[in-house]
Amino acid sequence: MPEKIIFNRLAIIGAGLIGSSIARAARAKGTVKTIVTTARTEKTRRRVVELGFADVVVDANALAAMDADCVIVCVPVGDCGEVAKEIAGALKPGAIVSDVGSVKGAIIRDMAPHIPKNVHFVPAHPVAGTEHSGPDAGFAELFENRWCILTPPDHTDAAAVKKMQAFWQALGSHVEVMNAEHHDLVLAITSHLPHLIAYNIVGTAADLESRTLLEVIKFSAGGFRDFTRIAASDPTMWRDIFLNNKDAVLEMLGRFNDDLSILTRAIRDGDGDTLFDLFTRTRAIRRSIIEVGQETPETDFGRWHAEHPEAGKK
Ligand code: NAP
Repeated sequence: MPEKIIFNRLAIIGAGLIGSSIARAARAKGTVKTIVTTARTEKTRRRVVELGFADVVVDANALAAMDADCVIVCVPVGDCGEVAKEIAGALKPGAIVSDVGSVKGAIIRDMAPHIPKNVHFVPAHPVAGTEHSGPDAGFAELFENRWCILTPPDHTDAAAVKKMQAFWQALGSHVEVMNAEHHDLVLAITSHLPHLIAYNIVGTAADLESRTLLEVIKFSAGGFRDFTRIAASDPTMWRDIFLNNKDAVLEMLGRFNDDLSILTRAIRDGDGDTLFDLFTRTRAIRRSIIEVGQETPETDFGRWHAEHPEAGKK
């Protein structure tokens, strides 16, 4: 029987959706003894205490990091460097510092220079989330059957990487190790570009005349509604992602624009074969995502419909 406790003291910097979900999951799985977290305002500290997912709540990042065996930085990408600087002097020798940022190259650039030599740095990205934010939004099951990507810089201590791997597996995730550059390219197409497209299409609709806009909202179930879920994601988080994964996003955006031109031409020329071939390929991609368990096979994402009363039930 493997030892369940992976870290005696876990520090979570930033008790939002991801930070509070890690705390909830780590506690539910019994992988840590003590959880300490930061919350910057009195109001949030009170709420974190009420929600009860941490043993200790403090107002300063360095205070949380003190004596921790593992510190996971769960703040927006643009704040990670500053947080690393704040906690550097408080880290104990042999501790592991990690993060959850959706971009990895920029995080390593901003955090690594502050991490002391006797502390291990194992950046991570749990590929799991929702469009909600803050401590109330978290839940323990968020990482179940989802991927967590570790991007340790060259020469990172192998035992520290293994420990972070065991931690995320204990939380229910599958773990993959890759380099930061590759991570940023893959996520640019699977996550960042879809968000940009959603923000853009919802923005375009919002700029329509008020009468048309009312109809867009009224008839939104025609496909628009699914974009609005993604476009409701946290503005700070997504601003930071685009600013910090610029090259990979621009590369994917270039390809996207080329492909869009082909579709534009096919529509203009009445070239049904081009449209049909693409739509057949994309349908197969959705089926394979369902097959590997990363999406529900339920009709309309399992939303409740009067004609399919069972569809929306969990
Ligand atoms: P969130 O719900 O907005 O939580 C972020 C938390 O960080 C807030 O509690 C905020 O506190 C705190 N914070 C911000 N700056 C801080 C600082 N300098 N010191 C201490 N705390 C600070 O955001 P989230 O969705 O959990 O995202 C956090 C990270 O996870 C981001 O890097 C994001 O890229 C990554 N991520 C997100 C998702 C997702 O779907 N949401 C998925 C995977 C990874 P205040 O309330 O005081 O501002």
